[in-house]
Amino acid sequence: MRKFNSVNELVNFLKPESPVYCIRPEEIRKSIKFFRNNFPGKILYAVKTNPHEKVIKQIISSGIKEFDVASINEIKLIKKINPKSKLHFMHTVKCKRSISSAYFNYGIKSFSLDTKDELRKILYATNQAKDLELYVRIAISNEHAEIDLSRKFGALPSEALGLVRLCKEHSRKLGISFHVGSQCMHKISYSKGIREIGNIIKKTKIVPDTINVGGGFPSIYPDLNPEPLINYIIEIKKELENLKLTKLPEIICEPGRAIVAESGSTIVKVNLRKKNTLYINDGTYGSMFDAGVPNFILPSKMITDGRVQSKKLTPFSFFGPTCDGLDYMKGPFLLPNNIREGDYIELGQLGAYGLTFRTNFNGFYSNTIHELSDKPIMSLYDDIKVKVGSLVA
Ligand SMILES: *Cc1c(COP(=O)(O)O)cnc(C)c1O
Repeated sequence: MRKFNSVNELVNFLKPESPVYCIRPEEIRKSIKFFRNNFPGKILYAVKTNPHEKVIKQIISSGIKEFDVASINEIKLIKKINPKSKLHFMHTVKCKRSISSAYFNYGIKSFSLDTKDELRKILYATNQAKDLELYVRIAISNEHAEIDLSRKFGALPSEALGLVRLCKEHSRKLGISFHVGSQCMHKISYSKGIREIGNIIKKTKIVPDTINVGGGFPSIYPDLNPEPLINYIIEIKKELENLKLTKLPEIICEPGRAIVAESGSTIVKVNLRKKNTLYINDGTYGSMFDAGVPNFILPSKMITDGRVQSKKLTPFSFFGPTCDGLDYMKGPFLLPNNIREGDYIELGQLGAYGLTFRTNFNGFYSNTIHELSDKPIMSLYDDIKVKVGSLVA
């Protein structure tokens, strides 16, 4: 891993034939500073979003001490980098062996679940442990999110009440959590989730020790420009106050995308142009899964060694390097009209769900990763000056 002052410097120096993945650590520091200054509680980083060691180290040095993990390998990874990190096993469906290993080998007490069967598994696998921190994940609508998780996870209101009562009996600490879906474009999803927790509190008369509002905080893409993140935080604080609890539970969040999206980008080379379709050397089996069927539109920038770029921007679609027709990214990706074979493109916002999706399919795999100190193509955090005082005591 080397460090370059700019993406142009990198391309003109390396003239890479394979995709190059870039990390801008400064952007991670910025996003974490925003969350630490404004979020009224504890911040867990969702490891799956980008588990690269450089990224994790930057996250730790920016002040994050706790992590949301979903597998034994994620646990091993974080423990290796920093044995003192506190980990929370926030996958609602785990195999017994992973639960046992997390509890007995790594000292993890914190588990999430959305069914009684999973609770039974957790109790069995931890030998009826008495020091568990159990998070009941409730189902809420993911209607404002780009990536919907609601069909897969979450206890329905009818099941949640019984589950909360049961978990209260079997835990040392009880949490209730939800996830609004990834890239959530409307803050109202968070208040709906908190209101739902309010209903559960009223009906069960059980106040959880922790309320976990999950991840889903958005980043910015050319066609997805969310309102300022600070408004999401204000909305969450307001709704927590509306619960009118004499003592507010501990609040936690588990952002992934909003922490790291801006910090990563992919540099690709154009192998062929067919009219307004470019055949590039990375694709949906590489770092660009989200540009495939989920159809995320990524900010794009053509890089040349000085050749004049035409002013006219043209919408392009991409095909990746493999032999699969699904290796297609519809876009539109806006690029200068005179782009041609041999040119390079930087694709932004791939710090989240980018690097981590790479496969070896068809023999295409690049592990060239470098550090950059210039600005990303787009940023949500640059014009953030407001710091609201804590509304929650
Ligand atoms: C993926 C995930 C997150 C992070 O979601 P983002 O949308 O990237 O913020 C947080 N919590 C859980 C349980 C997850 O599965």
